[in-house]
Amino acid sequence: MVFAHDTEAALLSAVALVNTAVEPDTLTSVEDLDGWYQEHGYTGRRDGDAAELAEVRALRPVLRELLVADRDRAAVLVNDLLADARALPRLVRHGDLDWHLHAVADDAPLVRRVAVETAMAVVDVVRTGEGSRLSVCADDGCDGLVLDLSRNRSRRFCSTACANRNAVAAYRARRRSR
Ligand SMILES: [Zn+2]
Ligand SMILES: [Zn+2]
Repeated sequence: MVFAHDTEAALLSAVALVNTAVEPDTLTSVEDLDGWYQEHGYTGRRDGDAAELAEVRALRPVLRELLVADRDRAAVLVNDLLADARALPRLVRHGDLDWHLHAVADDAPLVRRVAVETAMAVVDVVRTGEGSRLSVCADDGCDGLVLDLSRNRSRRFCSTACANRNAVAAYRARRRSR
């Protein structure tokens, strides 16, 4: 494991959220947001309305900037996000989850909790100097973000689709050059 369990979970959910903005946009309905929320094990307040959806959609470019920022810039962005949200870190234990960090109240709006969860995860990324684990997809035509949690740092594509497309292109290039 590269980061603590809750850090990895927060980074995975943030990257998935940012990548919904890659065309075609896949976060356009409350149902889409439900799907992301459930898949990533979020708990706490859900409004399930259009306002909440709009707020979370608008957070995507903010998180994207944070996740691809260089180390010094990321530190500034993290501090701003935590201050704006008046984050107050504390250890909690709920459901099947052992002690982990929460930094905003469970009844805070979803958008604020996602912003703070992500900022807290990037705290670890900055402290450990592991920023190179986050990158933009190696596919020329894709803006998706990649979170590489592999031991040998081998992950370069945001999705299986991008990896396969590039594997096919590389295979064709090798055949042509024979
Ligand atoms: Zn929790
Ligand atoms: Zn991609």
